[in-house]
Amino acid sequence: MEKIYFLTGSQYLYGEEALDSVRKDANAIVSFLNRHLKNVEVVLTDLCTQSDVIERIVKEANHDDSVIGLIGWMHTFSPSKMWIRGLKLLQKPYLHLHTQFNERIPYDTIDMDFMNLNQSAHGDKEHSHILARLHVPHAIAIGHYKDEKVVGQIQSFADVCRALSFSRGLNILRFGDNMRQVAVTDGDKVQAEINLGWSCDTYAVGDLVEKAASIPEEEVEKTYLELIERYELKTKDVHAVKVQVRYYLAMKAFLQEHNAKAFSNTFEDLYGMEQLPGLATQLLMDEGIGYAGEGDWKTAALDSVIMKLGEGREGATGFMEDYTYDFAEERVLGAHMLEVSPRFAATRPSIEVHPLSIGGKKDPARLVFRGTTGEGYALSLIDMGTHFRLVAQGITLVAEERPMPNLPIASIQWKIKPNFQDGIKAWLLSGAAHHSVVTTQVTLDEIRLFAKLNDLELILIDDKLDLERLERELEGRD
Ligand code: MN
Repeated sequence: MEKIYFLTGSQYLYGEEALDSVRKDANAIVSFLNRHLKNVEVVLTDLCTQSDVIERIVKEANHDDSVIGLIGWMHTFSPSKMWIRGLKLLQKPYLHLHTQFNERIPYDTIDMDFMNLNQSAHGDKEHSHILARLHVPHAIAIGHYKDEKVVGQIQSFADVCRALSFSRGLNILRFGDNMRQVAVTDGDKVQAEINLGWSCDTYAVGDLVEKAASIPEEEVEKTYLELIERYELKTKDVHAVKVQVRYYLAMKAFLQEHNAKAFSNTFEDLYGMEQLPGLATQLLMDEGIGYAGEGDWKTAALDSVIMKLGEGREGATGFMEDYTYDFAEERVLGAHMLEVSPRFAATRPSIEVHPLSIGGKKDPARLVFRGTTGEGYALSLIDMGTHFRLVAQGITLVAEERPMPNLPIASIQWKIKPNFQDGIKAWLLSGAAHHSVVTTQVTLDEIRLFAKLNDLELILIDDKLDLERLERELEGRD
């Protein structure tokens, strides 16, 4: 299991007896956290009482792949100059846990010894000072460690750490280049690797076609039979469906061979393929593979990272594209040509084959369903030339009430915060894309922390939007 180091700060001033109590209390906190946190093990390190110990712990954390983050807490006062060497080397996410061992002040028994031992209220301020002075990007959780909210914040930090660890080793496969002439889906891959750790390389469509041809017929048949158990088959064109099954198996193998968890392709470069991979891509998205169309590797990568962050939670995450509006009802209809993740399905998906007017290929098989509901965000990551910008738009996914008999693709619909006009204006002013990752699985604090730890500019569009201020900020006049 992945680990988070728990660093307890103190100093020798109080004597060995006090340090024993610090150790005992820190151990009790760590044991409590390990009983209440999911999917992570908190590991108590040696007490942080001098520079060389802190430096050693940070170096260990940096070099151990199983350590995904660190939590720091000052039980007593821990003079921060001794933290400088260690914190300057820190390469993993850091949570400053501003807690106390005692929840209440023990009014009847409190004496100076108690005060000396339980002085997080000022010891942690010495710590936060050095974190601020060294510009260590970090999260903060405040309150008694047994408080449900605090445990929730620590869990959330651990989940972001896991997503970040995943993100920093993420390989993205690109079949074909960016869609011709499109600006927003393009970007600086070298800078993305520097900021986010994403490695995006191109592979020949011909190699994928060859791989597809090499998948044994029995394997295609077996997967096809599983599929028609899971989904409703609403086509007589079994051949078209099996072609997609073959693409799915080939792409899955290709991704595994290159240790990749995300990919992009483009309808402009499908040489040797019979169909645009619709159903195939949808099946991969359902398995947590990030995807975005038209060579949009940034959104594909973000899709897989946000899925990792929301893993195991209620709700859905997936690639999305703004298609068309209903101005009267102030709704957005989001979909893609075919590639909408079945994680958004509110109804049992059906497998259908219909013509596709773009791409000049044969009628592709796809999953068709109506979309789910819930509160969430649409996230768009764009390259501004000088830096990457993450735009997070608060949205409410709403039920698709009316039938759309002539639109045989999957779709979702949503409403925009704080309202349709202002929300869309802020999105347009920010230069955000028509592509996004829509998620109902992550919180605003998690998005904030993700942006901070990756040095991304974050523009938030939600109920607290101050449009005038945002406009001034974007024009650089604030
Ligand atoms: Mn698109």
